[in-house]
Formats: sequence, structure tokens, C-alpha cells
Amino acid sequence: MKGKLVVVSGPSGVGKGTIVKELVRRRADVIESVSCTTRAPREGEVDGREYFFLTKEEFSRRIKEGEFLEYDDHFENYYGTPASFVKKQLESKSVILEIDVKGGLAVKKKMPESVLVMIAPPSLEELRRRLVSRGTETEEQIEKRLSRLEFELKQANEYDFVIVNDELERAIAELSAIVDCEVESK
Ligand code: ADP
Ligand code: 5GP
Repeated sequence: MKGKLVVVSGPSGVGKGTIVKELVRRRADVIESVSCTTRAPREGEVDGREYFFLTKEEFSRRIKEGEFLEYDDHFENYYGTPASFVKKQLESKSVILEIDVKGGLAVKKKMPESVLVMIAPPSLEELRRRLVSRGTETEEQIEKRLSRLEFELKQANEYDFVIVNDELERAIAELSAIVDCEVESK
């Protein structure tokens, strides 16, 4: 295995996608894994780029076949990391998984050499502002996502690193440094 497996977690709207996409754009040696999900594509999302969009039946079949490194359900939909895709990519590159805390801890159990990174918001108000300005969820969905914040951040102590996403450039630089660092993770 040549690359490093880096899990990036944090509350919805904290900026995970923004940070990871920019790092992947800048570095040819880092890619983002594409997860499978049963949720509907958002405006502008492309099958095979943001996610592989599957039916519930197809997702269940893949669970039975053991095709996921981990999977979970959020907001009434399934999300899972395809194991073969990740292992193949690690032969030549570092791979970033953008998944929730439960998924991250499951990956760490299966692959202890992985590194877990939590992205935290500067404040609850700022997180709400970002979710509203993204404009992809209803108010009810936003409240649901915000109510998970405390639960998600509490588990940060199980993580190897925490990055506060206040200034975007600094957050990207910190994640880039973590991909490179040689320090053994927990
Ligand atoms: P996530 O992937 O964690 O759900 P996104 O990457 O979609 O979050 O970011 C949510 C919103 O916050 C987006 O509109 C994004 O442009 C904005 N955003 C991300 N990082 C910052 C930052 N450091 N400062 C201000 N706005 C940000
Ligand atoms: P969204 O619908 O906003 O894209 O993602 C909702 C949640 O699903 C986020 O917390 C995201 O991190 C999580 N998620 C995305 N892909 C995966 C995956 O492959 N596995 C798990 N466990 N969670 C995922």
C-alpha cells in the first residue's frame, strides 16, 4: 500500500466537501473515494462523481455480497464505502473518505493504519448560516442536521486530528499536512 487512507468527518454543512474537493484538485497524489448512496442526486450532482446513486434493492444486494468497507443509514437513506475501489486506489494514491463518525470508527477497526480527521465549525451559528446559504435542504432538514452536531463532535476524542474550518485556506493546508505526516495515528 503506497497511499494513506484518511477519513474526514464532521457535521453536515461544516465544509468537508469544499475542503476535500479543493485538496484533491490541487494534489494529483490524493483522490476522494466515491461512496454509494440511496438518496436522490442534488442539483448538479453526477452519478459516479459525487456518489454512485443506487436503488435500495441494489444497495441491499451489495451489502449481502460484502462489497462495503462500511455502510450506514442517515436521514432515511443508506451510504456505503466500496471496499474494492478504495483498496485499488491505495496502491498508488492517498484516498480520502468523507463519511460520518460511526463509519470512520468502523473503517479504523478494519484498517487501523487509517487516519481519522474531524472537521469542526467555528460556531453553531456559523454552521447554520452555511447550511442555509448552501440552499440544498429544507428548514426541517437543516434542524435535523444541526441536532446531530453535539453527538458528532462528542466523538471527536476518538479521532486523530481536529481541524476547525474557520478560514478555508488554513483548513485545506492542515488537511494537506495530515496526508503527508509520518506520525503514527492512535
Ligand atoms: P459539507 O460537505 O460538510 O456538508 P459543504 O462543503 O457543502 O459542507 O459546505 C457548506 C457551505 O459552507 C457551502 O456553501 C460552502 O461554500 C461553505 N463553506 C465551506 N467552508 C467555508 C469557510 N471556511 N468559510 C465560509 N463558508 C464555507
Ligand atoms: P449528504 O447526503 O449530505 O451527501 O451526506 C449525508 C451524510 O452521509 C454525511 O454525514 C456524510 O458524511 C455521510 N456519508 C457519505 N458517504 C458515506 C459513506 O460511504 N458511509 C457512511 N457511513 N457515511 C457516508
